[in-house]
Amino acid sequence: MKAQPTASHFIDGEFVEDVAGRAIDSVYPATGAIVARLHAATPQIIESAIASAEAGQKVWAAMTGAERGRILRRAADIIRARNRELSELETLDTGKPLQETLVADASSGADALEFFGAQATAINGEYIDLGGDFVYTRREPLGVCVGIGAWNYPTQIACWKAAPALACGNAMIFKPSEVTPLCALQVASILHEAGLPKGVFNVVQGYGDVGAALATHAMVDKVSLTGSVPTGRKVMATAAADIRHVTMELGGKSPLIVFDDASIEDAVGGAMLGNFYSSGQVCSNGTRVFVQKPLLDRFLERLAERTRAIRIGDPMDELVQMGPLVSKTQLEKVAGYVEIGKAEGARLVTGGDTLSLQGMEGGYFIEPTVFADVTDDMRIAREEIFGPVMSVLSFDDEEEAIARANNTEFGLSAGVFTRDLPRAHRVIAQLQAGSCWINTYNLAPVEAPFGGVKRSGVGRENSRAAIEHYTQIKSVYVATGPVDSPY
Ligand code: NDP
Repeated sequence: MKAQPTASHFIDGEFVEDVAGRAIDSVYPATGAIVARLHAATPQIIESAIASAEAGQKVWAAMTGAERGRILRRAADIIRARNRELSELETLDTGKPLQETLVADASSGADALEFFGAQATAINGEYIDLGGDFVYTRREPLGVCVGIGAWNYPTQIACWKAAPALACGNAMIFKPSEVTPLCALQVASILHEAGLPKGVFNVVQGYGDVGAALATHAMVDKVSLTGSVPTGRKVMATAAADIRHVTMELGGKSPLIVFDDASIEDAVGGAMLGNFYSSGQVCSNGTRVFVQKPLLDRFLERLAERTRAIRIGDPMDELVQMGPLVSKTQLEKVAGYVEIGKAEGARLVTGGDTLSLQGMEGGYFIEPTVFADVTDDMRIAREEIFGPVMSVLSFDDEEEAIARANNTEFGLSAGVFTRDLPRAHRVIAQLQAGSCWINTYNLAPVEAPFGGVKRSGVGRENSRAAIEHYTQIKSVYVATGPVDSPY
């Protein structure tokens, strides 16, 4: 299988190559085969992306919201029409099964372009009456924004960042993770096919140093990062030097609390969705599953049965439910955490082994894994694993569950399963997390704000809230009478 793009970068409305940049090999995680070779951006490529974005942004911001919105919505239509092809590319890039990518990636990107395409017509200031004099505000774009993506959702992350940035009249330079360089190039090409002026959405490839060069560039007004807490800390520190805007979508170790009155099938299904979807490589996953003691044995029994039935295999087979991890590095990290869990005394309920599948011996497969008897101090309960490893913990009462759920540096997500709705709302209100669910898990429609508290992040993606993070307010006082000056 090959997925060689026309060139490594997309700048000023066209594919651009510079083979002087360090090689980036795109590896298909199911086989370990190299499917494309790209090159990291050289300083010249970075400068041309910045210059093009600066020029493009001026043209773009001068257009009406309706014109901008029409282009974004047209791009959404093209993405939907090409869903299968884009989903196959997403599967090649990430190893996620086609069963998922057909419904969760390009389509989520199209949702974002549609939603923010519609918002583009309604990004307005306000009129403030001062009884004669008045103030009006303008909601203006920030300018040139940099988007830096993680590797788990390359199409979705590119669209979730581009759609609100562009709707507000900004330009964006997007750097995908070098692990998944392919999908964002398609997003750029489609946006231009839809009529986007050149320079408004540029893609440059590279490792962390390219991300850092973009994030610290004097002409950049905002950085939106999806990545780990350590990278977030670095990017935010450099942004502080120049008082630059940031949105940080970082990691998590989110709690999912299952009370003993919950529907057991729903709770097990939610816990599986929140741990095994995308082979567990989802930032908002509910990886600490707190189960109230009277339900624990039945919960673990059904969880083990249903987990063992997950179909692992060739991600291009639409019947397959779980593919490999994204890379050898990630496989080693996750397998390492399984060993840590065993050594810490957690009870392995199911899974835990890496797999060598026939015909895909070079793939990065690992079984979905459930640990029980996990305690709060274990590393598997404290550190983000980013793989299909669920920790089940038990609790006695509500107060205890809330305190233990909040006992983490992270605060991205949280979930509660219970039939007692007053309790569900009471508990959710006390959980320190930005994106929460009651009686479901991990649904992230574009209409709802998404993002974390504590070390999981700053700012929000999606929803009207994202508009706040890609605009700045200018306030204009208008006098209607003579100037009342004491001098
Ligand atoms: P990383 O933090 O390693 O990398 C994220 C991106 O930042 C990559 O493109 C990376 O490039 C780039 N980068 C690395 N160093 C720098 C730097 N100094 N300056 C600027 N950019 C830099 O994360 P992963 O790619 O490993 O993704 C996994 C992490 O992402 C997890 O912690 C996960 O929780 C989080 N995540 C958060 C989400 C959210 O919405 N909250 C959603 C998805 C993932 P390179 O890859 O070349 O190093």
